[in-house]
Amino acid sequence: MSVPEIVTRFAPSPTGLLHLGHAHSALFAWTAARAAGGRFLLRIEDIDLSRSRPEYEAALMEDLAWLGLSWPQPVRRQSEHLADYHAALDRLSGQGLLYPCFCTRRDIADEIARSGAAPHMTPMGPDGPIYPGICRHLSAEERARRIAAGEAYALRLDVGKASALAGSLAWHDRGRGTIAATPEIFGDVVLARKDIATSYHLSVTVDDALQGVTLVTRGEDLLAATHLHRLLQALLVLPTPDYHHHGLITDAAGRRLAKRDDARSIRSLKEAGHSAGEVRSMAGYPDQGDRERPA
Ligand code: GLU
Repeated sequence: MSVPEIVTRFAPSPTGLLHLGHAHSALFAWTAARAAGGRFLLRIEDIDLSRSRPEYEAALMEDLAWLGLSWPQPVRRQSEHLADYHAALDRLSGQGLLYPCFCTRRDIADEIARSGAAPHMTPMGPDGPIYPGICRHLSAEERARRIAAGEAYALRLDVGKASALAGSLAWHDRGRGTIAATPEIFGDVVLARKDIATSYHLSVTVDDALQGVTLVTRGEDLLAATHLHRLLQALLVLPTPDYHHHGLITDAAGRRLAKRDDARSIRSLKEAGHSAGEVRSMAGYPDQGDRERPA
């Protein structure tokens, strides 16, 4: 029996400089691929056109190469593959699982307030308040009328219907074992935003499958997202990779590092005179021979 090749990826958004947390994540994926004689891919997640910048993309590639990582060309850039996400939306739409949502953030907040829930009782999902379902109840005529009138709309997944169709699902996490998928924690999530007709959740699921990624490694802040990605894989008949959600690097005060903490950016560490080996070590990957590698 042939063992499938391990393919991992690091998928940053070019919205700022990479910091030690990103270095940890990239090295985690790189090491997992290398240990198995597999491949490591870089993917640019630039669907957020208002925040993505070519100069950040150039900087992140330079920083990763400086850290000693390499990856095959061409690099997949999400903004160049909107047709793939469109095809996936068509497939979900054909199954009657999507509906147009015309709501603004204000409409959603007002509806939640009207429903009488105290602010601290608002049902929350991993991406924010659970959508109260306003547009799920619109008639087909009303939807057609508003679309024809040129109203902007997002596409939401009817998660109840989708979960019922998919049945019970699970995935395997290398650190946590088998996990039963509970995508309903998201409520009716947006799969195609008003401004760009896709979303993080849809693009990442489609791309991992199209690129043949067999082991998705990413921070445990994205663990909840996998519940939804597993559902999308089932609906779109895509393979389910293995997962490994790793712990996050924190600063001295125990806070997660963010892109705005420029002091910890790879670039500033380099400019302060640290070597690539030292920065790898700060990111949790001391070179062999320096010290034992972390488990
Ligand atoms: N693009 C995402 C980020 O910058 C990571 C996506 C993923 O690894 O699934 O956080």
